[in-house]
Amino acid sequence: MKNPFENALNQIRRAADVTDVKADVISILSHPMREVRVSIPLKRDDGSLEMIEGFRVQHNNWRGPFKGGIRYHQDVDIHEVKALATWMTFKTAIAGIPMGGGKGGVTFNPKEYSQAEIERVTRAWVRAMDGVIGPTVDVPAPDVNTRPQEMVWIADEFGNPAVTTGKPIEAGGSEGRGEATAQGGYYVLDELFEDLSLEPEMKTVAIQGFGNAGRTFARIATRHEWKVIAVSDSRGAVYNPEGLDVEALERHKDETRSVVGFEGAQEMTNEAILELECGLLAPAALENVITQENAPRIQAKVVLELANGPTTPEADDILFEKGIHVVPDVLANAGGVTVSYFEWEQNMKDEKWTAPDVDAKLKTAMADAARQTWDRAREYKTDLRRGAFALALERLSEAQPEL
Ligand code: NAD
Repeated sequence: MKNPFENALNQIRRAADVTDVKADVISILSHPMREVRVSIPLKRDDGSLEMIEGFRVQHNNWRGPFKGGIRYHQDVDIHEVKALATWMTFKTAIAGIPMGGGKGGVTFNPKEYSQAEIERVTRAWVRAMDGVIGPTVDVPAPDVNTRPQEMVWIADEFGNPAVTTGKPIEAGGSEGRGEATAQGGYYVLDELFEDLSLEPEMKTVAIQGFGNAGRTFARIATRHEWKVIAVSDSRGAVYNPEGLDVEALERHKDETRSVVGFEGAQEMTNEAILELECGLLAPAALENVITQENAPRIQAKVVLELANGPTTPEADDILFEKGIHVVPDVLANAGGVTVSYFEWEQNMKDEKWTAPDVDAKLKTAMADAARQTWDRAREYKTDLRRGAFALALERLSEAQPEL
């Protein structure tokens, strides 16, 4: 598989080509500021010792403290963490929040370890990152296989809740964090609805992935008169051109752990769902699912990237040629980090904002990011991904300190 950091660099270069941002800025942003690699000694429950590798990459902090999740996965390596950290710098700049970009990871599969062992790994990672993370320096959050529980351990080990976001509400978390990614994606879509040449009769959506992002988006879209015609999860996909009953589908998923077998829906393959005729396609599962192979067959009018990295650069070009707008991940799923920033701000000021307050601030931030991205794409006569990266490069250039 292609080195994901190369993908990130490629995206920066593609945006740099259409803007007049200084070459110095591009050179600096093509290198993370700091890469930290640590060895974590884990005492297993059976008394044996295992050495585990951990990372924190701090890509850029010109606009504020490094910010980004920590991932637990057996395939985590430095290249992946560098790529994810780089994307965070761009995402926070596009969202217009005063934070930079970072990412962490630990190379292990938590599903093969007990809760007590995961807690020891998490606390040891925090100790190993002494002087690296901190509320005004670098603020981690959940990512793949890390949950609010890990954030509670991180905050406790460090001794300050503001060191991390994504905590449960009773441990200093924010209202609205659970829905923030999907809600932010919806606000972006709503802001650009007419620009994207969507018509009210095209309010049909197919969603790949029925986890936090996908399932919450299905619920929100239904509330706004969108018809959810197909959804998938790792076991398969279900389709009903008349629209699925999302509430009943959520119950079915909770009871059976899959969307497959939902009454009143046709089954289809995970690949076929991407090629359905619909107004909106929302990938909300994995990377690299829209490629040069299937992009020519995509029939959606708009792709809303709730997942990180679902479209390859080659597929981006094919979709642009076909007139299909791709609302890029760095904009479409930036609602998550935006409410994370709100959580951090509440912790720093010892405040508690209400759910309507958080929602109103999220809506303003996402609508503004969407509008500015759209304007850049129009100005540079390019796609929304380059438009979004161009906006970020502009904001990062303004924040660049004197060399
Ligand atoms: P999740 O684990 O809650 O859900 C993932 C879903 O994808 C599950 O329903 C799973 O069954 C499904 N899936 C896995 N393999 C699949 C396959 N081959 N075909 C179809 N579906 C498949 O994860 P999430 O938090 O919803 O994250 C999903 C994506 O959104 C990731 O790319 C993540 O990085 C991105 N994202 C999430 C957030 C957030 O706040 N949750 C924020 C930003 C970005």
